[in-house]
Amino acid sequence: MIVTVTMNPSIDISYPLETLKIDTVNRTNQVSKTAGGKGLNVTRVIHDLGGDVLATGVLGGFHGAFIAEELKKVGIKQDFTPIKEESRDSIAILHEGNQTEILEAGPTVSAEEQTAFFEKFKELLQKATIVTISGSLAKGFPQNFYQKLVHAAAEQEVKVLADTSGESLRQILKGEQKPYLIKPNLEELEDLLGQKFSLEKLEEIQAALAQPLFEGIEWIVVSLGKAGAIAKHQDAFYRVTIPSIQVVNPVGSGDSTIAGFAYGLSQRMNTEELLKICMAAGMANAQEKKTGHVDPINVQQHFENIEVKKIEQ
Ligand code: ADP
Repeated sequence: MIVTVTMNPSIDISYPLETLKIDTVNRTNQVSKTAGGKGLNVTRVIHDLGGDVLATGVLGGFHGAFIAEELKKVGIKQDFTPIKEESRDSIAILHEGNQTEILEAGPTVSAEEQTAFFEKFKELLQKATIVTISGSLAKGFPQNFYQKLVHAAAEQEVKVLADTSGESLRQILKGEQKPYLIKPNLEELEDLLGQKFSLEKLEEIQAALAQPLFEGIEWIVVSLGKAGAIAKHQDAFYRVTIPSIQVVNPVGSGDSTIAGFAYGLSQRMNTEELLKICMAAGMANAQEKKTGHVDPINVQQHFENIEVKKIEQ
């Protein structure tokens, strides 16, 4: 089973408006409200692909109940730790081709609630072969909380796919036990290393991934949006190129990449197939209106058209 971790889920609300009028009333009858947060996007896409997935994390209040209900409606297994404070809303206003977002920081999770979650997580590990960790931690958690999850998973020989950024990613990399995969996009990699990269000089990205900071991580997939990815598996490097496609909404494509990889691993795919399925899932998500959703037939079609080349060193 694949267990997905979402530590700060949200209700994602989107308001499409012709124009956004400031300092007056804007009315819409087209609101969409979905269970959101990067980890829940991962969950949905694994489910769309037909994978065996269970969502965990923390949920609070009426918002938490809504999120749980949304997952239940589509038949996704879940086992969240309840918290006292209310889970958050994330609002996106789509207007004049722009996306203006209002993101709540979300609830503060108490020390007791953190312990309760950690105990549940350790129990879930007994049934898991793969864990995905995505997105930010809610307030109250220590910065090294994800590192703690990585250690607990390593003890049970469960593979962790970690998709986080900033201090949480730095902390994970510092840990004694490493995640099985990290998937920074170019911006996240630049932020992590304090270095600028360009798509014209992929060899510089390759050199950066070979440094000791990343030692012990089986897989690093640097996703490059429409330019595909550059990946490191053990000591080998791969360039993955994808055909150009008609894009509808690329939000959540990185999450879908993680979902594709987790699904591929659960199906024991080989190196080349894993790279293809994770890119294909990202592409298929970019072609859907709904964030964190893929049509498996579309994924299969993209899979056939992706090129994986080993970079000779
Ligand atoms: P993130 O969402 O984390 O920033 P990316 O933008 O790199 O991640 O997207 C992840 C993957 O999704 C890409 O490697 C690619 O396979 C697919 N993808 C994303 N944007 C596009 C696009 N505009 N055209 C085609 N594929 C895309």
